[in-house]
Amino acid sequence: YDSYFFDESPLPADHPLLQTLADHRQRLYEKVLPKENQRPVLATLVPYQQEEGRWLVAEINVDISEHKAMELELTRAKERAEAANKAKSTFLANMSHELRTPLNAILGFSKLLERDSSLTPSQNDRLQVINRSGRHLLGLINDILDIAKIEAGHLALLAKDFSLASFIDEMEELFLSRITATGLAFRVEASDVCPDFIRADEGKLRQVLINLLGNALKFTSHGEIVLQVLCEQNEHGAQGQWFLHCRVEDTGIGISVEDQQKIFAPFQQVTEAVPDKGGTGLGLAICRSLVELMGGKISVDSCLGQGSTFFFTVPVQQAEQGEGDKKRLGPQVLGLAEGQVARRILVADDRQESRQLLASLLSITGFQVAEAENGKEALALAASWAPDMIWMDVRMPVMDGMEACQRLKADPATEKLPIVAITAHALMEEQEQIKAAGFDDLVYKPFHENEIFAAIARFLDVRYLYEQKDGSSHFSASTQPGCREALTSLASSHLEALRQALLELETAQISTLLAEIVAENPAAAPLAELAYNFQYQALLTEVEEALDHQDRESG
Ligand code: ADP
Repeated sequence: YDSYFFDESPLPADHPLLQTLADHRQRLYEKVLPKENQRPVLATLVPYQQEEGRWLVAEINVDISEHKAMELELTRAKERAEAANKAKSTFLANMSHELRTPLNAILGFSKLLERDSSLTPSQNDRLQVINRSGRHLLGLINDILDIAKIEAGHLALLAKDFSLASFIDEMEELFLSRITATGLAFRVEASDVCPDFIRADEGKLRQVLINLLGNALKFTSHGEIVLQVLCEQNEHGAQGQWFLHCRVEDTGIGISVEDQQKIFAPFQQVTEAVPDKGGTGLGLAICRSLVELMGGKISVDSCLGQGSTFFFTVPVQQAEQGEGDKKRLGPQVLGLAEGQVARRILVADDRQESRQLLASLLSITGFQVAEAENGKEALALAASWAPDMIWMDVRMPVMDGMEACQRLKADPATEKLPIVAITAHALMEEQEQIKAAGFDDLVYKPFHENEIFAAIARFLDVRYLYEQKDGSSHFSASTQPGCREALTSLASSHLEALRQALLELETAQISTLLAEIVAENPAAAPLAELAYNFQYQALLTEVEEALDHQDRESG
C-alpha cells in the first residue's frame, strides 16, 4: 500500500485500509482521488490471502462524480423548497394579521355602536348589515387561510375537555333561528348513551358542523334539517375511547352521484342550477381535512332532488369534566357590578384602531385603562403605573409582545402580573412561541367582547353587571336634583365639548370630561353614573338642555 497511497503516508490510524488489513473484512468508503484528479469515488476494500499466508487488500474505485453532483442538486432543491415553504407560512401569518386586524376594528366598533341608544331604527339596520357583512368576510378569509394552512401542513389538533351536551345545545342555538326563519324545520337528536364530557378538538368539530349545517340551510328551500349525534364505545380501543358520529340531513336540492365525487375537492361548486349562493367551494375540502386530521372520515349520501346526508365519525376520549368554555358567549356585559374597585388594565398594541377598540370597551365597562404602542412603552407603564393586568399584542415594532412578556415574567416585581396575548395569527408555531414566552392566556382577533371579559374574570377578581333578557339592566339611574344646576354652572365650552363627545360616542373622552366636571362640582356625580350605565341619550338630553338654558340666560 505504500505505493498505492503514495501521497498519503503515513495513514491515519483509523483509515479503513488499516482496519481491513487488521480484521480482513471487506469495507466501503468514499474519498476524493488525490492530486489533480480530484474525483469523488466509492472505494471497496477487498482483503485476500496469498498462498504464503500474507494478506493483501485490493481497492476498487468507482467514479461517483455524477451521483455526487445529483446529490448536491437534490440538497439544494430541498433547501430551496424548505425556504419557499417557510416564505409561504410567513406570508400566511402576515396576511392573516393584515386582513384580520382591520376587520377586527370594523367588527368591534360596529358592535360597540350597537350599544348606542340614540341610533334610529334605520341606522341600526345599516349597522346590522355592516356587522353581518363583516362577519361574512371574516368567514371567507378564514376559509382561505385555513385551506392554505392545511396545504402547508400547519394545522394541528388542540384537544380539550368539554361538555358534549352544551356543545350540541350551542349548535342548536346557533342555527335554530336562522333555519326556522326560512320556514324550514330544524330537529336536533342526540343519543343519551353519550359520555357527558369528551376530550376532542372542539373548535374543529364546531367548524365542521357549522359548515355542514350552513350548507344544508343554503341548499334547502322546504322541508327540514336534522342534526343527529350518536356515540359508540370503541370496543377495540383502550377504556374510555368512543366514536362520535354526526349526521346532517337535509331535504334540499341533492347532489348527483357524479358530483358527490367532486365536492370534497377545493374550489368545487356543483350546483349551477341554483342562483349564486356565495361561498368559495372550500367548505367541504376544509371539513374533510379537519375530520381526517382528527382521525375520522366524512362522506355523503344524496339523491338529486330529494336531499343530502353528510356524516362523519371521529374518535374521541371520554373525559371527567370540561375546562369551562371560554367561547361560550353569555349575555352582554354592561359594566362592573356595583361596589367593585376599578382595576387597572394596560393595553399594548401598535395599531391605533385595535388599541382604541379594546381600550374603549374596557373603559366604558368601568376599568381604568392605559395604552402603550409597543413593548418598550408597556414595560415602562408596567413599572410606573402598576397595572393589574396587561393585554399585549404579539407583533409590535421597537419591542414585540414576546420579548416584553419575557422581560416582565423575568422581573420579580411583575412576574405575577397576568399577561394575555392578543393576536390575529393562528399558526401552530406561533402558539407554541406564545406559550414559551410566558403569556398566561391567548385571545384571537377578531375577539368577541365576552372573551375579553371572561379572560379578565379568570385573572382578576371582578364581577360584571349583565344585560337582562328583556334588555334592561339592574341600574335605575335618574338625574338628581342639584345635578342640572351643576351642569348649567359649567363653562359653555366644557358643555359643548361634552356634547360633541356624546354625539361622536367618544367614550374615553366622555369619561375624562365627566371626571373633570365631577371633580369641579360633586353634585354632577349622577351624570357620570348615566354615562357609566350607557345612558348616553339621556346624558345628551341633559347637556343640550343645559346649553339651551345658558343660551336663554345670556339672552
Ligand atoms: P361552498 O358551500 O362554499 O360553495 P362547499 O365546499 O361547502 O363550498 O360545498 C361545495 C359544493 O357542494 C357546493 O357549492 C354545492 O354545490 C355542493 N353542496 C354542499 N352541500 C350541499 C347540500 N347540503 N346540498 C346540496 N349541495 C351541496
